[in-house]
Amino acid sequence: MAKNENRVYVDIKCSECGVLTRRPISKNKKNTTEKIEINKYCPRCNKHTVFKEKK
Ligand SMILES: [Zn+2]
Repeated sequence: MAKNENRVYVDIKCSECGVLTRRPISKNKKNTTEKIEINKYCPRCNKHTVFKEKK
């Protein structure tokens, strides 16, 4: 059952403390060559940090 075909799960990593989390991201562009960056609240840093896609 593919409800959200554009939604993929990626592992993202806090750029400050390095904690890993998994987050569903909707990829609209097919040619997503650049790494995903998300501004997200990090519970370990206790603030918003930049999470980057882990490859
Ligand atoms: Zn962090």
